[in-house]
Amino acid sequence: MSANSPLVVSDLAKAYDGRPAVDGISFELRRGECFGLLGPNGAGKTTTLRCCLGIAAPDRGEVNLVGIRLPDGGREARARVGVVPQFDNLDPDFTVAENLLVYGRYFGMSSSAIKARIPDLLEFAGLGGKEKAALRSLSGGMKRRLTLARALVNDPDLLLLDEPTTGLDPQARHLIWERLKRLIADGKTILLTTHFMDEAERLCGRLAIMDAGKIISQGSPRELIAQHIEPHVVEIFGDAEDTQPIEWARGEAEKLARRCEMAGETLFCYVDEPTELLERLAVRPGLRVLHRPANLEDVFLKLTGRDLRD
Ligand code: ATP
Repeated sequence: MSANSPLVVSDLAKAYDGRPAVDGISFELRRGECFGLLGPNGAGKTTTLRCCLGIAAPDRGEVNLVGIRLPDGGREARARVGVVPQFDNLDPDFTVAENLLVYGRYFGMSSSAIKARIPDLLEFAGLGGKEKAALRSLSGGMKRRLTLARALVNDPDLLLLDEPTTGLDPQARHLIWERLKRLIADGKTILLTTHFMDEAERLCGRLAIMDAGKIISQGSPRELIAQHIEPHVVEIFGDAEDTQPIEWARGEAEKLARRCEMAGETLFCYVDEPTELLERLAVRPGLRVLHRPANLEDVFLKLTGRDLRD
């Protein structure tokens, strides 16, 4: 274990009602990186985060948070960490500024120290001048940004973010990405869970993919793509009314692609070199074809499958 790591998780396991939610996972954050935890619904990401914060007790394994071994010293460790929980737990009866004050005081900060930080925190979150606004007057995106501002009230070196952009429109999501990039550039360390593969690709230096409580692959986005997927993807869109063209395309693709997968009416072809397949598809009219580089979503779907999890 690196003595300098802000978070070290070793052989962590936790079951609910005898069913493992987290099943013996280990990972270690490097100072200044954004580390992503990806996985389908129920994979165990939130349980992992809760154990990392000492708010859920593991059945087995160890968590060392900001140099403090949990569960002892949990409160002291949490005071040095910023958290954006999956569901906003802002106080609806308080104003924007009051929410930041109450949260900071809980961690032992003085009111004057918190008040001095509020204008900058709100500016950072795109909520400048909203100190006195009532919580109910904020949009979902504003609330999420306020939760991020709140996580920064104690100027933590480590942030644990559980799906920080779920439910946000593209504008709000881009704003949060830009702010998170600033935090990373400032040297903060981030543990991020997300269902958005583009978010993980943009923000995370390294990531772990979880399924059924286990880490099934770990590495940088580039490494994972290179390790698991052919470099080119050709998507061919079919038509439920007339399946002949897509069936023909499937026959051609199966001769040339390393792997073909039908999802709904779309055929995904994974190839090392796309030219020949694209040329063959071009001679048949009526097919819509998209050629793109392989991405993290392809890796995720290959490793965790396309079946729904709930
Ligand atoms: P999501 O992407 O849906 O947020 P997740 O990867 O965060 O999922 P967890 O919320 O950690 O997954 O859940 C892992 C498993 O543990 C699921 O089967 C869930 O139903 C179960 N679980 C989580 N918390 C509890 C709890 N408090 N009581 C009982 N079961 C729980």
